[in-house]
Amino acid sequence: MDIVVVSNRVARLDAEEPMTGGLAAALLPVVRDSGAIWVGSSGRTRDTSVKEPLLEVAALGKGALATVDLPAAHYRGYYEGFSNSALWPALHSRADLVRVEPEDYAAYREVNAYMARALMRFCRNEATMIWVQDYHFLPLGAELRRLGVTQPIGFFLHTPLPGRDMLAAVPHHRELIEAMLAYDLIGFQTVDGQRNFADYLRRELGLTVRGAIVRSRHGETRLGTFPIGIDTALFAERATKAAARPEVSRLRSSLQGAKLVVGVDRIDYSKGLANRLRGFAALLEAQPSFRRAVTLLQVAVPSRSDIPTYRALEHEVATLVGNINGRFGEPDWTPVRYLNKGFSQTTLAGFYRTAGVGLVTPLNDGMNLVAKEYVAAQNPFDPGVLILSEFAGAARELEAALLVNPHDTAAIARALAQALGMSQQERCERWETNMKVLRASPVQLWFSDFVRTLDDQASMALPVV
Ligand code: UDP
Repeated sequence: MDIVVVSNRVARLDAEEPMTGGLAAALLPVVRDSGAIWVGSSGRTRDTSVKEPLLEVAALGKGALATVDLPAAHYRGYYEGFSNSALWPALHSRADLVRVEPEDYAAYREVNAYMARALMRFCRNEATMIWVQDYHFLPLGAELRRLGVTQPIGFFLHTPLPGRDMLAAVPHHRELIEAMLAYDLIGFQTVDGQRNFADYLRRELGLTVRGAIVRSRHGETRLGTFPIGIDTALFAERATKAAARPEVSRLRSSLQGAKLVVGVDRIDYSKGLANRLRGFAALLEAQPSFRRAVTLLQVAVPSRSDIPTYRALEHEVATLVGNINGRFGEPDWTPVRYLNKGFSQTTLAGFYRTAGVGLVTPLNDGMNLVAKEYVAAQNPFDPGVLILSEFAGAARELEAALLVNPHDTAAIARALAQALGMSQQERCERWETNMKVLRASPVQLWFSDFVRTLDDQASMALPVV
């Protein structure tokens, strides 16, 4: 069975480049090893008067990477508009941030239709299955069916799927979600996501969901939960290697005995950056003995900076960092080292391994791969402690982390104090427990489970002749 994976952006192939996000980071090793074709935007746009999408194909391990220039006239409305100013905030339970121009939805549908046309080139073979990734392409399956594609088509949502009231904040939500039922299989990160989706189908569309199966005018759709994992062994290997890198050894020696806490995020309101910083400040305030004894390294990669909400957030977080450093800093100690740029995953692995605490406090996150990577990168004999928001999908699996409510800054401060003072034995026990979970569900298994379930579902749902 040939597999075509579709996502908005594809990974950068150079291992020294930072990843563009969790989705690209997760898919890269599986596409490389499975022989799949990965189709996504090239990051460039082109004039739409040229109707036929142009694809550029490059080899990627056993598989291939095919990139397409998206139509210039619709790109803004599709990407910054409907995808990231309507869907993203609503999916992360921030209905207050939903902003759309009237033409954004049409642009979103146009780009989905365009991507469907680009994919037709890979749909000639009956033995091909198509797997669509994430919220940029909710109606892509329906567009493909309209073009006559009969092969299995699956969809996986990397973000959370909130309750009906949040989804209802998205203009055209009924039409969009109804269109999703053209997929044979729809996958979610957590059981909550799947449950919320089923609840929406019942209450908003009046459909009957039996177990994980729903019937609609498109046929039968299966719902499933497939928490995404990481390549644990690869990360552990990177961390060992990275420890010898100059930037990592310079970091270690610059600490002058202080313990390191690390945070790694795109600058996004879902990531809880401001609360994290306030929690760190609360620790320094409440327990002055930690001053000079601990440093927070926060990698904060600028993201979606063309959207005003994101620019405002960049400003807010930078101001907060300045205030904390101004208030608590000393001539020879900076409490927060704030870096507005991306690093390669190997360098990140070195940062993770150097840090005694990984601080991951999203207010809402589909999974959060950084949490998993932090655990995988630890030294097994002297591991660090993961502090993890209970609102990240990863909290469902990494139960041996110190789970915190990210809205409660005092709770973040308490968890930091607990982590920084934790005995080696407890650190080892918690790490072992989390590692067992990570080893048992690598990203390769996520990929093969989804593909197998899609294959089964599509063959079962065939009309009986
Ligand atoms: N990442 C990276 N370089 C950076 C920051 C992040 O390569 O400087 C990667 C990181 O290793 C992880 C991904 O980007 O694999 C972020 O995934 P996550 O699920 O934590 O968040 P997302 O950005 O997808 O919301």
